Amino acid sequence: MKEYDFGDLVELKKPHPCGTNAWRIIRMGMDIRIKCTGCGSSVLMPRSDFERRLRRVLKKAADAGGAETAKERG
Ligand SMILES: [Zn+2]
Repeated sequence: MKEYDFGDLVELKKPHPCGTNAWRIIRMGMDIRIKCTGCGSSVLMPRSDFERRLRRVLKKAADAGGAETAKERG
């Protein structure tokens, strides 16, 4: 079972037609909505479908917590 959560950046088995293979999870529920970080289009799919397509989690939202707003200096 793969671990993923809201806000995570994930890689799917198939890249988006735009060539990007990095998706942000923007909705968690019975259905999962992910957004392509390349072109910004979003896709809604059942959770089971998502888990089949998921290859790996690129970046946990928790890891990035605050990192985007408070970048390390020096
Ligand atoms: Zn795309």
